[in-house]
Amino acid sequence: MEYTFGGAFLGVGGAFSGVGARRAGVDGVRAGYVGIMLRADLLQELLVAYGPGGQEDAVRAICHRELAPHVDEIWTDPAGNLVGLIRSADPECPDSPSGPNKDGSQSIRVMAHMDELSMLVKRIDADGSLWLTPAGTMYPGNFGLGPVAVLGDQETLTAVLTLGSEHTTKESQRIWETKPDQGDKSLDWLHVYVFTGRTPEELSAAGVRPGTRVCVHHSKRTLIEFGDYLGCYFLDDRAAVAALLEVAPGLRDPRPPQDVYLVFTTAEEVGGIGGCYASRTLPGRLTLALEVGPTEAEYGTTVSGGPIIAYGDAQALYDKKVADRLLAVAIELGLDPQAAVFGAFESDASQARAAGLTAQAALLCLPTLSTHGYEVLARAAIPAMSRVVCEFLRTPQPD
Ligand SMILES: [Zn+2]
Repeated sequence: MEYTFGGAFLGVGGAFSGVGARRAGVDGVRAGYVGIMLRADLLQELLVAYGPGGQEDAVRAICHRELAPHVDEIWTDPAGNLVGLIRSADPECPDSPSGPNKDGSQSIRVMAHMDELSMLVKRIDADGSLWLTPAGTMYPGNFGLGPVAVLGDQETLTAVLTLGSEHTTKESQRIWETKPDQGDKSLDWLHVYVFTGRTPEELSAAGVRPGTRVCVHHSKRTLIEFGDYLGCYFLDDRAAVAALLEVAPGLRDPRPPQDVYLVFTTAEEVGGIGGCYASRTLPGRLTLALEVGPTEAEYGTTVSGGPIIAYGDAQALYDKKVADRLLAVAIELGLDPQAAVFGAFESDASQARAAGLTAQAALLCLPTLSTHGYEVLARAAIPAMSRVVCEFLRTPQPD
């Protein structure tokens, strides 16, 4: 399935149409990416792929397949990031991964993370039940009780995350604690476990042990469409991954004035691990992260509004000149951008900047309802993000 940008483009086939279809009243839109469309089929494929932190192989394989035809070089770095390089229009451009001028380089690193919020097996009971610890900031209520996938080394098992029976009394203390009219404690990881229906021996044979990743089951990962909106778990950050994948074909003709590294990062949710490594090892001054951005009254942001450009978050300040420029680009494209300062939010870029691994950091977000829960965003948001990134990368960077 494919959807046109904002319903205003012609519904021509092909995920990337370089012709005609142009949003009325928008000037300054360059040929070559005016027809970027939401590829809902690709987004669904990304959403259903399991990508727990540090084990994003299924997501990486999809990204590699989609990216490879559109980049000059593609590789997976030692941290597990997938990197695609699009070389500058200038053949004399000195930037290269082995170049001497890393921090002075004009190269830009654009990142979207492949990982999702997930859980790790902490211990296994004698009856085959699994107790979990979260990988990322989340509670059992964010994704609800129900089916999970246990990614054993030999076998992926279907199992069920459960609290136990609600038809119990104070004698069942663990359950009783979570009842709002009784124990009054919110559901946490010490309250829930995974029923596997397997013995410890069977679990061992499937390659399940402490450290095994547990993900929300694929049966709960169907993209829903309603009105102008899309909903699913894990739009963080697969929606931004889909947007970044559409940037690559948009940068080939003409090429950007500086080398561009498109980086699909590992383990963002557990500390920006991949984004920090890529910021340290790839040339360039700027790391630009693509993320879902919270839409709440406290930030003055709405899910129906244009792309969010952040000036700060819980971890770092974003570079003001770069944020100003992203804002100007989005305004030029007629996208009604939203400037914001976030709390309780971090990105690959802010974590890299806080660690001193990038000179400049920037953050562009898809306006998203109920982040780290069942996320909702506008259909038009993903193509809009791709267009802002393409236009931003095609114009020379200020000093
Ligand atoms: Zn994210």
